[in-house]
Amino acid sequence: TIGMIVIGQNGQVAAGTSTNGATHKIPGRVGDSPIAGAGAYADSTAGGAAATGDGDIMMRFLPSYLAVELMRSGIDPSTACHTSISRIKKHYPDFFGAVICANTTGGYGAACNKRPGFTSFPFMVSNPHTGASLLQTVDCF
Ligand code: ASP
Repeated sequence: TIGMIVIGQNGQVAAGTSTNGATHKIPGRVGDSPIAGAGAYADSTAGGAAATGDGDIMMRFLPSYLAVELMRSGIDPSTACHTSISRIKKHYPDFFGAVICANTTGGYGAACNKRPGFTSFPFMVSNPHTGASLLQTVDCF
């Protein structure tokens, strides 16, 4: 899945995903990516989030919605992403997944669930003011 969060010049927040779904998916599977709150969620008064990973597990927890609601309450994006992953981890310690988060003031972060072969998660941050795109990496926990 490719997940994206965009903060517009007037403060609008948008989030979306593009995915080929799960390997060996059954015909008709929808997955988490197109489900608002699961694959992605945005609210211009709080922030945006997008998720990738095992959608069949993740979609039960609405991780993108949870992360945005946490940011709404003032929690920073990294912590919001972390808490969102923790919520799933509690029930599925070995699930495969990551979440990216950004708030309305330009703060951002990401979190991922550590498992064999998945110990860090790369994501890009682009700043139109500087024209720079920066590759960032977060360690999974
Ligand atoms: N979340 C996607 C799905 O389960 C897969 C992915 O993130 O690569 O459909």
